[in-house]
Amino acid sequence: MCQRFELLAEQSSTQFVACCEHGTVHLGWGGSIWLLSRQELIELIRLVTGPPDERLDHRGPCFVSRDSTGRTVLWSHERALAFTHAGYHAFRTLLLTARPNFERVPAEQTDVTFQSYRLN
Ligand SMILES: [Zn+2]
Repeated sequence: MCQRFELLAEQSSTQFVACCEHGTVHLGWGGSIWLLSRQELIELIRLVTGPPDERLDHRGPCFVSRDSTGRTVLWSHERALAFTHAGYHAFRTLLLTARPNFERVPAEQTDVTFQSYRLN
C-alpha cells in the first residue's frame, strides 16, 4: 500500500503525477489513476513530446490514436485515456512539468528522500 508520495506535477486534485515510496509513478487524470513504472512514464513523456508520426506508431506499448469524434486517445498497454484538444494540451503540459522533477528522484527510493504528501 502506497502511503507516501512525492508530487512531481499537479494541475488539480484529479490531474497530477506523483511518485510513491516504492518508486511507482501514480498518474492521475480525470478520476482514474494509472500506476506506471519509471520506464513507462519515460515512454509516455517521449510519446507526447515526440514527433507526430511516432505518436501514431501502434507497434509500441504506448501510442496515440483518434476516435470517431476527433478526440485524441492515449493508449498504454490495455489502458486508454481520451482527450479533447485542450485536454491533451493540458496533459502534455502536466507531463512536461513532471519531467525535471521526475529526473531528480532517485530510481531507488528511500524514506529519507520523501516528503509526506497526502493525495485525495
Ligand atoms: Zn507504492
